[in-house]
Amino acid sequence: MRFCRAQSLEGALALLGEWGADGCLLAGGTDVMVQYRRGEIAPGALIHIEGIDGLSAISTNGRTAVGALATHARLAADADIARRHPAVASAAGLVGGWQTQAVGTVGGNICNASPAADLAPPLLVADAHLTLASASGERRLPLDQFLIDRRVTARRPEELLTAIDLDPLPPGSAEIYLKVGRRGAMDVAIVGLALRLGLRDDGTIHSARLAVCSVAARPRRVPEAEAALLGARLEAEALAAAGQALVAAASPIDDGRATASYRLRLLPGLLARAAMRCGEAVRR
Ligand SMILES: Cc1cc2nc3c(=O)[nH]c(=O)nc-3n(C[C@H](O)[C@H](O)[C@H](O)COP(=O)(O)OP(=O)(O)OC[C@H]3O[C@@H](n4cnc5c(N)ncnc54)[C@H](O)[C@@H]3O)c2cc1C
Repeated sequence: MRFCRAQSLEGALALLGEWGADGCLLAGGTDVMVQYRRGEIAPGALIHIEGIDGLSAISTNGRTAVGALATHARLAADADIARRHPAVASAAGLVGGWQTQAVGTVGGNICNASPAADLAPPLLVADAHLTLASASGERRLPLDQFLIDRRVTARRPEELLTAIDLDPLPPGSAEIYLKVGRRGAMDVAIVGLALRLGLRDDGTIHSARLAVCSVAARPRRVPEAEAALLGARLEAEALAAAGQALVAAASPIDDGRATASYRLRLLPGLLARAAMRCGEAVRR
């Protein structure tokens, strides 16, 4: 296996063009190196992109733009992200331990396409769009269309994810990411749920975006539960109905972390807690 260190975006794209599907991008390496050691991947070349300048910037001119190489530690500590995307900031602070957060990147979390990717739900409720670059140009794709299945994305072999752009939290809205894991700081989610709610002065919900991870083959928005929240108040009956819609839309599996039935049992309570916390944050 060859190890290639890309010094620039153009250099990385040239290497991707040369190696095609046999080339594996390496950002922080926290997924790639684990998979390589386990024999799950055997690429012809590792293309190291961590040192490329300009791919970790965060800008807040209109939609928030986050470079794909921004680390979880950076997202968790950035004041603009905390203000405009509090659910993203807290999800980043819940990825593994500090060592993983120090090198693991948002681009790697997305492109690895794990069903349990912590950043995916808060990015989905922020209507994340991805910029994918190749030697022949760029294209932009919603995250929801990029994540196809477990470990399957719409990325073409010659493409590199350069940036993610997001809808900032509008006034009168709040968002939250809640994660249930086996051990708070070091494990992937048993269930993860992100909720962004907009509330009218009379307490009714005028906008609702809800996304989950670890309860289907890919992280996804749940329009059925969002519809149940629209026009409702933050009251037990409405939240229970939304919780039932969420359970009906989920298709979890049993794995080493939890059973499918445990995951389903967690969902209504998690949704109700997220909604109440959003309500408190809007009223504050
Ligand atoms: C101990 C430990 C704990 C962890 N805990 C969690 C957790 O709690 N929650 C969680 O969600 N994850 C967790 N992870 C997984 C991992 O840390 C994250 O998914 C991380 O964000 C991956 O980022 P990376 O930069 O290390 O990606 P890499 O390992 O470098 O790459 C991951 C994949 O994305 C591709 N890729 C990377 N960057 C790009 C790009 N810019 N364009 C196109 N493709 C790209 C790579 O080719 C590879 O397929 C954990 C990992 C470890 C080792």
